[in-house]
Amino acid sequence: MLEKLGRNLPCWCGSGRKYKVCHMEFDERIAEHKRMGDVVPTHKMIKNPAQIAKIKESAKVNVAVLDAVAAAICEDMPTSEIDRIVSETTKAYGAVPAPLHYQGYPYSVCTSVNSQVCHGFPSDKVILKSGDIVNVDCSTILDGYYSDSSRMFMIGDVSDAARKLVEVTKECMELGLEQVKPWGYLGDMGQAVNDHAKENGFSVVRDIGGHGVGIEFHEDPFVSYVTKRGTDMLLVPGMMFTIEPMVNMGSALYDVDPHNGWEISTRDGKLSAQWEIQVLVTEDGHEVISW
Ligand SMILES: [Zn+2]
Repeated sequence: MLEKLGRNLPCWCGSGRKYKVCHMEFDERIAEHKRMGDVVPTHKMIKNPAQIAKIKESAKVNVAVLDAVAAAICEDMPTSEIDRIVSETTKAYGAVPAPLHYQGYPYSVCTSVNSQVCHGFPSDKVILKSGDIVNVDCSTILDGYYSDSSRMFMIGDVSDAARKLVEVTKECMELGLEQVKPWGYLGDMGQAVNDHAKENGFSVVRDIGGHGVGIEFHEDPFVSYVTKRGTDMLLVPGMMFTIEPMVNMGSALYDVDPHNGWEISTRDGKLSAQWEIQVLVTEDGHEVISW
């Protein structure tokens, strides 16, 4: 098979180098893992340096947009104002908010308040009040390249319990990130996230998770937080995906709004929190691209 790919032909990664001096050994190492029974990434999941550079430019805008939200968000603000800030800031950078019109999604950002797990609609009827916790999830398209991250904001005086949920969820993301390294497994990350949530008495939403990102908004692989160490997909340099655990104070069960088909809330009405970063697997570890 390797002969067929042509040792002296240009590498599939687009580097312009000969395959034998570029990704040939890399492919052989992946093939060995596959023979041992591992789930391995496809070439399509591996970004080349030129693509990574473009995605980083997109991410700079995404971070700036979330920084603009962070500077402005406050008590008595309707979440529709967050939508306006995201829309205007993104446009000022010559970029496009990725959520707008994505599969019919009607806004430029998701604002998920309290018991909303994700995909909350910004609204002039949802006024942030003291004690609320809110996730603001921004995604940007710049020059055709995608970036995606989200942050939690605590409005005014939040309860100790709500603060703990927000902080533990961030720790989950950070502990997951520590596990991301080449030739490790996605499950190393997943278990680190899940263990920390459970140790704190919280639950992790099971079948909504992270995803590959960069060339498209949502790419393979699906990123779960209920997988076990040493399982799930092999990680290799050039892969890029989000770590975005949704952590619930009560049960992990949720419902989708039957009217709009988007907004997702905890079934028990208890609080939910989420943090999201976009991560690149590098030759010696990882790099956070968007936060
Ligand atoms: Zn190559």
